[in-house]
Amino acid sequence: MQINTKIIDGTKIANVIKDNLAQEIKNLAPKNVSLAVILIGDNSASKIYIKNKQKACDYVGIKSHIYVLPYNTNNQDILDLIEVLNNDSNINGILVQLPLPQHINQELVIQAIDIKKDVDGFSKESLGSLIIGNPFFTSCTPTGIIELLKHENIEICGKKCVIVGRSNIVGKPLALLLLNENATVVICHSKTKNLKSELMSADIIICAVGKANFITGDMIAPKSIVIDVGINKDENGKLCGDVNFNSCIGIASYITPVPGGVGPMTIAMLLKNCIKAANIERKF
Ligand code: NDP
Repeated sequence: MQINTKIIDGTKIANVIKDNLAQEIKNLAPKNVSLAVILIGDNSASKIYIKNKQKACDYVGIKSHIYVLPYNTNNQDILDLIEVLNNDSNINGILVQLPLPQHINQELVIQAIDIKKDVDGFSKESLGSLIIGNPFFTSCTPTGIIELLKHENIEICGKKCVIVGRSNIVGKPLALLLLNENATVVICHSKTKNLKSELMSADIIICAVGKANFITGDMIAPKSIVIDVGINKDENGKLCGDVNFNSCIGIASYITPVPGGVGPMTIAMLLKNCIKAANIERKF
């Protein structure tokens, strides 16, 4: 059975969200919305991500301040900078670009960010309160995936969602967000025994593994919805996801491309969180 697979245009959806956010920022005037981004070292992928975030901030009218620290910066220097930014009422959101150099204590650094400025939603408080309540901020990629599904009018309630990957920034928070939407959630990881049988039983598959073309068309059920979080390079150095896109066409009912799927939504959610942070700031 050949299925007419719809390719979800994450860029287009993110642009609609960004236009709405730009309007929201205009309505906030004269109050500015600002984001501080800290980069340690010169990881080339991180630099591209930061450039994209900066561009998106410019587009909607968020002031971005980029702090580039040398690779050999120590923990204390980063903590000192975060403390300054925490106390700066002109800064609404603080983001530390991951991955950090190995000698930096990532947990310590993330925990140092004021919870009211944790626009990435990576702190223990933000992640923990996802389980029991309503955190200030939810991580941008999982939140972007929920928005993407909703924008396409894809029903989540009662659906079986199989997430591949259990990282603290994607897999785990996404599982909680989907649970909050009344999905039945399965989380797979590197020790999962029979991944294919889990995937075959899924209505919605979300893959966040970080391995190029890891999921192929023969591993998914007809009409399943496939959301590809991965950002990888294939053997020719071309950007690709965790899902072998072409092999899923004609089998999946919906699929996100890489690039142009989840990535732009992640950035749109970051902008949304910055505005939320500015609004929180006004209330305190
Ligand atoms: P991590 O490396 O932190 O986690 C990868 C997960 O994949 C782990 O839980 C791991 O399992 C699991 N895994 C590894 N091998 C297998 C396997 N053979 N079968 C099943 N599961 C496996 O990655 P992240 O969550 O940080 O990122 C995942 C991908 O998403 C990357 O490509 C990253 O670049 C991309 N990404 C994209 C974003 C976007 O905006 N589009 C944002 C964030 C990430 P285990 O826990 O057992 O080791």
